[in-house]
Amino acid sequence: AKPTIAIVGRPNVGKSTVFNRIIGERVAIVQDEPGITRDRLYNNAEWLNREFFVIDTGGIDLGDEPFLDQMRAQAEIAIDEADVVLFVVNGRDGITTADQEAANLLLRSKKPVVVAVNKIDSPAMQTQMYEFYSLGFGDVYPVSGSHGIGLGDLLDRALEHF
Ligand code: GDP
Ligand code: MG
Repeated sequence: AKPTIAIVGRPNVGKSTVFNRIIGERVAIVQDEPGITRDRLYNNAEWLNREFFVIDTGGIDLGDEPFLDQMRAQAEIAIDEADVVLFVVNGRDGITTADQEAANLLLRSKKPVVVAVNKIDSPAMQTQMYEFYSLGFGDVYPVSGSHGIGLGDLLDRALEHF
């Protein structure tokens, strides 16, 4: 099977934005096809000639479960299906209780995890990434999904785990 990256994180941190960046120009292609929604949960992607599969677990509909249960379920899906988990956090908010909950599950799973500190839109904001080292996953990667910054270094790291 193709190597798989699953994107995990609490709502609004920018998972879908990062997902769309990773799948890149393929999004533009699907948008032109009627009946195919832009907000896909699974897609093929390619980085430096390596093909892989990406899952946006935030888009998986888990019904009316309380938010922490949904996030737990999404993390479990990611742990089961992925070779590498891309854990997205919001660099502007700092670490929240929900981030810590997700981190604990991921740490227990022993899956490779790469932390993307999103919404770091300018170099001046990079100092906001340091507190995320305390989540316990080693290096963290500052990115801006909406500006397309930092995704290359992040994917280099993620693909090292395939
Ligand atoms: P999700 O719920 O984790 O999938 O988050 P979304 O991808 O839907 O993004 C939530 C909000 O954050 C949207 O308003 C995005 O435009 C915004 N957002 C996502 N990435 C960035 C970023 O890198 N910088 C900034 N400033 N906003 C972002
Ligand atoms: Mg989303």
